[in-house]
Amino acid sequence: MLQKTSQFMREANFIGGEWVKADSGATIDVTNPATGLKIGTVPKSGKAETRRAIEAAETAFHSWKKTSVLERHKLLRKLHDAIMDNQQSLAELLTMEQGKSLTEAKGEIAISAAYVLWFAEEGRRAYGDVVPSPWADRRILVTKEPTGVVAAITPWNFPSSMLSRKLAPALAAGCTTVVKPASQTPYSGLAWGALCEEVGFPKGVVNIVTGSAGEIGDEICANPLVKKITFTGSTEVGKMLMAKAAATVKKVSMELGGNAPFLVFDDADVDRAVEGAMVAKYRNSGQTCVCTNRFFVQAGVYDAFVEKLAEASRKLKVGPGLEDGTQQGPLIDGKAVEKVEEFVSDATAKGGRVVTGGKRHALGGSFFEPTVIADAKPDMMFMKEEIFGPIAPVFKFETEEEAVRLANDTEFGLACYFYTGNLARAFRVMEGLKYGMVGVNEGLITTVEAPFGGVKESGIGREGGHQGIEDYLDTKYVCIGGLGI
Ligand code: NAP
Repeated sequence: MLQKTSQFMREANFIGGEWVKADSGATIDVTNPATGLKIGTVPKSGKAETRRAIEAAETAFHSWKKTSVLERHKLLRKLHDAIMDNQQSLAELLTMEQGKSLTEAKGEIAISAAYVLWFAEEGRRAYGDVVPSPWADRRILVTKEPTGVVAAITPWNFPSSMLSRKLAPALAAGCTTVVKPASQTPYSGLAWGALCEEVGFPKGVVNIVTGSAGEIGDEICANPLVKKITFTGSTEVGKMLMAKAAATVKKVSMELGGNAPFLVFDDADVDRAVEGAMVAKYRNSGQTCVCTNRFFVQAGVYDAFVEKLAEASRKLKVGPGLEDGTQQGPLIDGKAVEKVEEFVSDATAKGGRVVTGGKRHALGGSFFEPTVIADAKPDMMFMKEEIFGPIAPVFKFETEEEAVRLANDTEFGLACYFYTGNLARAFRVMEGLKYGMVGVNEGLITTVEAPFGGVKESGIGREGGHQGIEDYLDTKYVCIGGLGI
């Protein structure tokens, strides 16, 4: 168990370079989902602390925006190195508050560092344009400038990497930040404060406030000093933030919910599809926005796929994330378990067949068995709602048109996956699927080099790739006249 003396486990807000308590002294308990035991507390802050954090970010912005791109690049590289030097202890902290296996937590810390390195480089390539002028005596420049104070609100399922995808491009672009981590996993967010302090980011460039989501969110939305909100979380909260941010016309980036379909055609390599299905379904115990929510399998390979998926699911080692060999940690809390149970009972009441799993794990607490449900039907809850747990419902289809129609029959459009051995079909289906990200014969596609994000109600904007820095830059058109040439 990680000791409270860990240099990264901070129990205070980070505002203007100082570690401070909530004004009221109130705190929020943080628990370990694997044991249900309290780990510690963080400040329960509200509007006043958030306002001070925003003002600190605004003050810092005036000098931070003037730093050279090379200076920011060097600091970000140092931040990357500091993260990787401390990968093990940052991963232990993450597992302790979030529950995922230590292997997955180390992977998350590594990709967090990789985003920092990527955007350290992308900052140097935030090119503008010199546009051919229609006037003989004028010249046209298009420049990119940092947007200003950015507020970042992040979820509990990837408390480090979701923050990295926001913080790294914002800092590289020359913006300053106010971060609000999820209340269930605040330590991984606060750790970024300790890291930024250690590598020498100026005071106020990164500020972190924990506490009441409603109060912090309201101040962020209403405060005119905040020029952009970047949010990852539920579609419901995202819509609310967009509506409130409209009052001061802030820029918004939204990474919201998903309902990923995973299609397997008769001509697919079934073993490869099962391998992809395991990672697309069970990563983080099914608690990712890109986790498969619905498997659609063509009739000719349906039975073989269900059998192999169930066999592989049975072999998963469920246990506390810090225990050696664990592949599946607990769900985040008791409410998540109840929700997953609701999906199972809804499916069985409508004719679904539990092939493996289907109930709470013998370990108790919020552990749940990896579950495969065959004979899934479109009237089941899986069709519309995000499961966010280790349940794999498998629907049977006959034709390609039917599969694409069912896959698109959702208001979400984040990630989707399909398996086929036919090149023409691969292009047809890829073009037919209305999603922001498509895995063709691959079940794990996230990487810093590619733009991550959704269409429809899954969000606005992209994180990662060369696109990921654009949202933190404003475009300025400059017309230089009277040149008399
Ligand atoms: P959530 O309830 O929307 O919470 C996300 C963040 O928003 C937390 O920090 C939360 O704070 C905060 N929040 C809640 N109510 C707020 C309010 N009124 N004003 C301002 N902030 C508020 O989502 P979640 O359950 O943590 O995360 C799971 C969801 O995130 C899923 O839908 C998943 O698909 C989505 N997600 C999407 C992506 C993507 O890239 N598209 C990636 C990961 C997750 P508290 O913790 O204090 O409540």
